[in-house]
Amino acid sequence: MTAVIGLGNMGMAMLTRLVGLGTSPIGWDLDPAKRAAAGALGATAPAGLAQAAAKVVILSLPNEAAVTAVLSDLLPALPAGSVIVDTSTLSPAAVRGFAQQAEAAGCAYLDAPVSGGPAGAVAGTLAMMIGGEAAALEHARPVLEKLAAKILHIGASGAGQVAKLVNNLLVATHLVTAAEALRLGAAAGVGPEALLPVLNGATGRSAATEVNWPRWIASGTFDSGFSAGLMRKDVRLALAMAAEAGAPLDATARAAAAWEALSATVPDSDDFNRLPAAIFEGATP
Ligand code: NAD
Repeated sequence: MTAVIGLGNMGMAMLTRLVGLGTSPIGWDLDPAKRAAAGALGATAPAGLAQAAAKVVILSLPNEAAVTAVLSDLLPALPAGSVIVDTSTLSPAAVRGFAQQAEAAGCAYLDAPVSGGPAGAVAGTLAMMIGGEAAALEHARPVLEKLAAKILHIGASGAGQVAKLVNNLLVATHLVTAAEALRLGAAAGVGPEALLPVLNGATGRSAATEVNWPRWIASGTFDSGFSAGLMRKDVRLALAMAAEAGAPLDATARAAAAWEALSATVPDSDDFNRLPAAIFEGATP
């Protein structure tokens, strides 16, 4: 039996995938409307978190406080040997604490942040970056293989989050620098329609130019399912990790600062692609 706890953009997409494969997962969220939606999908949707206990529990939560709250109610209800697979993006220090807490309760906790967004979850093509014990990963692997095309065991507890935060720091800063570069091209007489195919066939390309611009920015859809607020959280976590590790991030920190500087122009609830779009339109971080 598998449970998914936290049914937002990512959690609901993972639950949809598991139901679609004919498994009978449990879905739980603090929000009763999300629990009702899980029931409508065909999942088991109990009223109480303790009834969401399962041998493999997937978490998809917005921050450390939410994971702390869920574990305090869930751990006492979990059968010994259960594995918690936390796909939330959190600090490495926080997840090491959660792993110790789970171990003390006779369970295991893997940090397993993901890349690929809600579309990747529905398609079962996520990339999952795992930190924690190999034996716990093997226990959870049959479930994880339904959700992820790449299951990367990075190392001990916290290593998955290190990989994810480095990845998202690059995504956040590439979006900012690509937006400024495209603004430069337009100001000098070559707009994004002409410039993007050039960049994407040359060495200036990144996911910002290959994926974000065509799919969500140039198209004007802004429906990626990842909010600016969550990207701000990831940037903060990455900068805090850099400070803790004593790794200077001078140029990167300057580009990353655009995410906080433009929080009035692009509020937390907006799609994260609104931020590079605003920079392209002339917003100055
Ligand atoms: P979201 O804001 O859409 O959903 C979060 C869900 O958690 C909401 O349904 C909320 O009601 C629920 N929740 C909050 N506190 C809770 C609690 N105490 N108990 C139970 N449920 C609770 O967020 P999301 O976009 O689904 O992201 C979830 C996590 O995955 C975040 O850590 C995010 O950084 C990470 N992530 C998101 C994406 C993406 O594309 N959306 C991609 C990779 C990683």
